[in-house]
Amino acid sequence: MSQALTKISSFNYFQPTDIRFGCGRLCEAGEAARRFGRRTLLVTCPASYPGIAQMIDRIKGMLSDAGLDVRHFDGVIPNPTTESVSAGALMAREHNADVVIGMGGGSSMDTAKAIAVEATHAGTAWDYLFFKTPPTEKTLPVIAVSTTSGTGSQVTQVAVMTETATRTKSAIYHPIICPRVAIVDPELMISVPEHITAATGFDVFCHAFESYLHSNASPITDTLALEAIGLVFRNLPSVVRDGTDIGGRSAMALADTLAGLCIANAGVTLPHGVGMAISGMYPQIMHGESLAIVYPSFMRFTWASAPEKFARVARILNPSLAQAPDDAAAMAFCDDLDSFLKSIGMRLGLADFGAPEHELDELARAGMVLPDYKSNPRIATSDEMLSIIHESYRRN
Ligand code: NAD
Repeated sequence: MSQALTKISSFNYFQPTDIRFGCGRLCEAGEAARRFGRRTLLVTCPASYPGIAQMIDRIKGMLSDAGLDVRHFDGVIPNPTTESVSAGALMAREHNADVVIGMGGGSSMDTAKAIAVEATHAGTAWDYLFFKTPPTEKTLPVIAVSTTSGTGSQVTQVAVMTETATRTKSAIYHPIICPRVAIVDPELMISVPEHITAATGFDVFCHAFESYLHSNASPITDTLALEAIGLVFRNLPSVVRDGTDIGGRSAMALADTLAGLCIANAGVTLPHGVGMAISGMYPQIMHGESLAIVYPSFMRFTWASAPEKFARVARILNPSLAQAPDDAAAMAFCDDLDSFLKSIGMRLGLADFGAPEHELDELARAGMVLPDYKSNPRIATSDEMLSIIHESYRRN
């Protein structure tokens, strides 16, 4: 008689994006956009940013070859602001755009999503944050072309932006902004410089690991998360060393997409809530850097509340822990992750970016505004959050 399986609890999994993955798939952008109309708004960083100009020229050529009427908003800035979203939304309205294509890292894809909302609704995109008014069906369709691996934004219902005046980073969170089509072409990632490869690649690990720890995790997200984590550990250090390695770039692009599916269906925990607060107050800090800053303290704060999960991931990074008891493996993971961060040049503290020490209390409060920290296996009190922030100030 077969043994009874452990009962699997009920879960949901939702993914509306048509994912087109593979080298050379950028050439499908025109055909993908035509499904939604002719008038297209292309959203990117300025062509003057290193490594960007050539890919902008390529996609523009492809879109006009497909008979599309293209306007180009090239005002995306890393850690996008509400002002830049509004400038893009104005252009979308003036052009009477049918579809918005966001091409770039998370900043470009998220700006495209926020433009798609603001161009079709009263007020600004900031009025449609996750705890305010939900955006409606009027939202323009979005096509995401990811050029970093990365944020997973090409498959998520999230658009992150910053309100400069209040130094607050927050997000629209609604299925209507999920890209209709995601083009994930690893050839576009070859030009990403070494440090940005490391910062964005570490973000992929964080998405997978935090969704694995999250109370909303399901058997599907766990499967995707563990696969993504293995891909990051096996490929990120070598891709940081040699960005032209197309095999490694493809592996990271796949990990990024899998991890994006995880956050879209499970979520993120304490480091992301704190990371959002860090980049909101200090926009010069990239999203991946903000996570690297907080991770060493987060790991030591959390492992004892989820030793089995920490141990399972520890053994992916360090197979010599295979026979170690869970507690020992989970504890060892804290040091091993420090070494991993060092190996990709991401052992960072807030002081490295000139964050003033007298603002640490304010930062700790800001880290508890988004609800992410409440989904952590161990929920921090205000004092514990303050300790995490103080520890994250200087890393040796
Ligand atoms: P980014 O989009 O800000 O890009 C970082 C830098 O990389 C920019 O200077 C950009 O010009 C450059 N770059 C991008 N692609 C390049 C290429 N192929 N070659 C050369 N340079 C290239 O960085 P990111 O980490 O991808 O995105 C960060 C943003 O995404 C943050 O605002 C973050 O909060 C947000 N985010 C969104 C989600 C989501 O689900 N929507 C998830 C996580 C993070």
